[in-house]
Amino acid sequence: MAFTELGLAPELSRAVAEQGYETPTPIQMQAIPAVIAGRDVLAGAQTGTGKTAAFVLPLLQALAQAPAARTPRALVLTPTRELAAQVAESARQYGRHTRTRISVVFGGVSINPQIDALRTGCDLLVATPGRLLDLAGQRAVDLREVRHFVLDEADRMLDMGFIHAIRQVLKLLPERRQNLMFSATYSDDIRDLATRLLRDPVTVEVAPRNATADRVEQRVYRVPKENKRHLLAHLILDGGWQQVLVFTRTKHGANRLAEQLAAGGIATAAIHGNKSQNARVRALSEFKTGKVTALVATEVAARGLDIKELPFVVNYELPNVPEDYVHRIGRTARAGGAGCAISLVGPDEAGLLKDIERLLRRSLPVAATPEFTVSAESRPAPPPAAPPPARGSQPKHHAGRRETPAPKGRSPGMAEHSRPCGRSFASRSARRFGSSRG
Ligand code: AMP
Repeated sequence: MAFTELGLAPELSRAVAEQGYETPTPIQMQAIPAVIAGRDVLAGAQTGTGKTAAFVLPLLQALAQAPAARTPRALVLTPTRELAAQVAESARQYGRHTRTRISVVFGGVSINPQIDALRTGCDLLVATPGRLLDLAGQRAVDLREVRHFVLDEADRMLDMGFIHAIRQVLKLLPERRQNLMFSATYSDDIRDLATRLLRDPVTVEVAPRNATADRVEQRVYRVPKENKRHLLAHLILDGGWQQVLVFTRTKHGANRLAEQLAAGGIATAAIHGNKSQNARVRALSEFKTGKVTALVATEVAARGLDIKELPFVVNYELPNVPEDYVHRIGRTARAGGAGCAISLVGPDEAGLLKDIERLLRRSLPVAATPEFTVSAESRPAPPPAAPPPARGSQPKHHAGRRETPAPKGRSPGMAEHSRPCGRSFASRSARRFGSSRG
């Protein structure tokens, strides 16, 4: 199927072709005609499925056909600044041959340039909820002409506690409008919200609920907390990984791990909510260009990052909310690529792993932990002198308790079949990333 068969205007099909897209993705095939027909849509789709174009393209089409207004006629609400910026950037690309005026507003940066931009006129507004309400409170934005409303990553919105803000925003919109809701996962709260927001929606689902992308190879390594960083450094260095997104649970943890990896000679940056917008943009851009190998991120900061064909995602700590696991590993194997998601699971995280497996309705394969080196300064103090092992008995092998790495090929955990995604995959993906668009 071609984009033109979806009923898109020639100027949009042309922009899409210039992006290098040959055929619509499944979510685009299903959602675009429904949105063009003016229907409300409930779409179950993760990032990486092409969901942004699935709502942006038909909205641009509707905006081009309707009479112009001074104030926004379409509003896209996103949970994070990064996602807002990316959606706006995509909209600008897709709308480059139209006259649609696109603005983006989010917190963490000065409000005045956003007020000025809105004053000059805006058709499609992409916003995070807090800043949008600030602007509305200052009467810098008027939402009474909004005819199309998109709630992007609705599940994340709720996780981040935005339900009250969403309700406030809805009060500022006219009753008569088209509503589109996108969510990677479904919960009772999402269902409730959909029931209140959508009228007779077309339901579009591109992957089974809460299923993880088929192409993502998932692995679990069981490893004590204090050894995780050594194992991670080993995986990166020994696997020749060029690009890995690492998730930690806390901002402090992200900073500390970034410092530790950097001290081990791995180019690393951290990205989280305490970093300035500029620092986040810089870290992301260095990661994309390959200057930074490991990007250590908290859940919220990583949300919405558009990194093409990211080969490796590591859960340094498992998320507290099992749905976040789906989001995290959705960072890899995006739009047709393949990927590898590795979870380092400490003894205290067994319950979290169970929750994730319950959500996925399958167990995650536990791989033999490769041997790795624990640097001297962080090795736990030796236990009190123990009697020598009985003759013939072997000292228990403990992955990660060696002073020097075993020669290549001798270590039991290093066999090619157990090596996550293999070295060749890493370098292949790195090359692909370097030549990718965007
Ligand atoms: P999204 O799910 O919207 O974050 O999109 C994920 C990635 O897929 C983005 O980098 C898009 O540029 C890319 N993409 C979107 N639609 C297509 C398509 N039809 N063909 C190829 N790539 C696409």
